[in-house]
Amino acid sequence: MAVPELISLEDARELVLAHVEALEVEEVGILDMIGRVAADDLTSDIDISPFAHAAMDGFAMRAAQLEGAAPDVPVELDVIAEVPAGAWYDGAIEEGQCVRIMTGAPLPKAADAVVKYEVVDVVAGDGREGSRVAFTKPAGVGDNIRSAGEEAKAGEIIVRTGEVVHSAGVGFLAGCGVTRCKTYRRPRVAIIATGSELVDPTEVPTKGKIRNSNSYALAACAIDAGTVPTVLPIAADDFDGLRAEVVAAAAKYDFVVTSGGAANGDFDFIKKVVDYEGELLMSTVNMRPGKAQTFGIVNGTPVFGLPGNPAAAYLGFEMIVRPALRKMQGYSHFERPHVKARLVGTAKKKDPRRIFNRATLSKDDEGYLVTPANNQSSGLFGPIQKANCFVVLPEGEARTYEEGELMDCVMLDIPEEVLL
Ligand code: AMP
Ligand code: MG
Repeated sequence: MAVPELISLEDARELVLAHVEALEVEEVGILDMIGRVAADDLTSDIDISPFAHAAMDGFAMRAAQLEGAAPDVPVELDVIAEVPAGAWYDGAIEEGQCVRIMTGAPLPKAADAVVKYEVVDVVAGDGREGSRVAFTKPAGVGDNIRSAGEEAKAGEIIVRTGEVVHSAGVGFLAGCGVTRCKTYRRPRVAIIATGSELVDPTEVPTKGKIRNSNSYALAACAIDAGTVPTVLPIAADDFDGLRAEVVAAAAKYDFVVTSGGAANGDFDFIKKVVDYEGELLMSTVNMRPGKAQTFGIVNGTPVFGLPGNPAAAYLGFEMIVRPALRKMQGYSHFERPHVKARLVGTAKKKDPRRIFNRATLSKDDEGYLVTPANNQSSGLFGPIQKANCFVVLPEGEARTYEEGELMDCVMLDIPEEVLL
């Protein structure tokens, strides 16, 4: 059990990341790709757009026909055809003629500009085929036209391996004829709460008991991280019981997360179980809340033992487990966006470890403000529910951070890929 004590959060994350790899590739429909990582380069089967078309409802002609047009020298043209979206007109457009065209309709071969309907005066008729219309301004070649292949050429790579597909990307893929694509399988994550005091949330706890809230928060975090969690039965504080449950879970799931019993108390067993059944790689991290963070490999499966205190378990999951689960899905960004924010009130640092206080970011004219939650007890989920960041009090001596000091904040509600 000779693992280094109080390693840095960076080392802890690196260690865990080094022990996981992206899972197998599976093929899914594009709607199942939202937020997931492409495991293959994807190409378009056609030019996007497939043909030059009108970007506005209006009239198509050659820009040269409108040379010199002005309010007092209008150029009048006969409307010789009408092209709605889905149709086309490939005939000639002679001098003195134009074609009425709708957004999305192919630009006639003989035209090189579209003038939007709103700035054209109808001289005779209703503006449709057979009418006569007047232009009071010149047009430029290419006006209100989207060119063929503007976004992609047939055969061109449109989404690369490793890219996260967002909802707009799903539309892009659909337009390019890609309806199924390869991605990394979602990890199946076992969630085991340990503690002889725990009862299921459906029960009213009797004396000395509390409800198992961690398993549900951690399952929610696991879903949020893109994985498929299973909440397994509560394990009592008992070496053999916990050992049996962890070994069974390691055989069946891709990643095992436990909470509770991660320190050195008389009834803390996860470290001993990992050490006994596999390889213990980590036991404490220099952060607060949540110093006791166990990590190891049991029968080839990563097992992470989070502390029991809700905020400590949450922080450990967010900072160390989540990056690992993301790597297993092919993501390459593991750090949430950070911002600097002016402290509202003061923050006392009593411990040399790096402290992550639950806090709320807001903004005023001068930038971000951060307000720490009043109650920083590691036993509470409520302040995290109301928070949107952790405000970081760096490693080092005890001190008080004063009102207005610039603090580093980890944003919890923004994906890792976003650059701020
Ligand atoms: P432990 O890490 O097992 O020493 O637990 C630390 C604190 O967290 C204790 O007050 C436990 O009762 C509490 N705790 C442990 N597991 C859970 C859980 N699954 N849900 C809510 N609180 C828990
Ligand atoms: Mg316990």
